[in-house]
Order: sequence, then structure tokens, then C-alpha cells
Amino acid sequence: MTSEYYTQALVLAKEPTGESDSQVFLYTADLGLVIAKAAGARKIVSKLAGHLEPPNIIAVRLVQKNRFQIVDALKISALPKSNNWAPILDLVKELTAEGQPDSELWRMIEGKSLEGGEILRVLGFDRAFAVCQDCGAKTPGNFLLKRLEYVCSVCLAQSGSPAHFVLK
Ligand SMILES: [Zn+2]
Repeated sequence: MTSEYYTQALVLAKEPTGESDSQVFLYTADLGLVIAKAAGARKIVSKLAGHLEPPNIIAVRLVQKNRFQIVDALKISALPKSNNWAPILDLVKELTAEGQPDSELWRMIEGKSLEGGEILRVLGFDRAFAVCQDCGAKTPGNFLLKRLEYVCSVCLAQSGSPAHFVLK
């Protein structure tokens, strides 16, 4: 069975797979996180390539047959180029799930006001209620992406984990 979807999305990441394919991570308004293949044909990939760059906001047509495939994409906007969005896009990619759209997060994307602490709060990891998972210290300033837990800076240094998000 094949399903087709048309939705808006924030492009989180694009990774080459094989010679002419790409795997694209999208946070969509209607489907939550979507990991999709950009169609194999080189011509199609090159036509879509410019649209499928982070941090573009796109209108995207997807077909799902076992996995998602991007059949068309059009850039409609982008997050402001002045910021370094990489840590924020990583955070959204790690914290969201396929098939679980979140209207509050999507509104933040549309409003282009994406801030790490707010994203964590919206997705159920509010720092206000967090303690360091290793020592119990209050208001820990680092969120470990691999563990989905907060730790304080002392414990972070001891764990040596490179994949973390620092809250200001
Ligand atoms: Zn600690």
C-alpha cells in the first residue's frame, strides 16, 4: 500500500547515501519527524537539492511505501542565516519521533523563534524540573542527546560525552 502526503517541513539534515541518493531528516507539520529518501534518479535529486538544505522550511510531497520517499520539494522560507542552527536542528532530530507531530513545536518553527530551552520544555524535558542524572545537582546546564538526560558541567566533564546540548 502506498500513501501520499503533502506537508510543510523544516529540513534538519541531509546525508548522502550511496552514489546518487540522499537521506533527508525533516520535521514536518503533519507527521512529526520524517526520515525520507530523496528519489534515486540523479536528475530529480539535483532538481530538489537546493530545496532540501537545512535550515530551509519547505513544502514537501512524500510517498510512503514501507519507507518515505521525497517526490517533490519547494523552499518556502528558511530560518535566519545569521544563527548557527546546527545544535538546534540536532536537538529536534534527536528529541522528536516519527508519527508524532507537535503543533506547539511547529508553531515555533513557523515563527522562527527556536530556542533550545523552549524546545526541551515543549517536548517534555523542562529544565525547571531537571536535576543532574549523575549527581542530583539542581538546574543542570547540559542535555545529553544520547541519553536524553540532563547532567551538570562537572559530571559532563567526567562522562566525556561529546553529543550534548548546552543551555544558556
Ligand atoms: Zn552532576
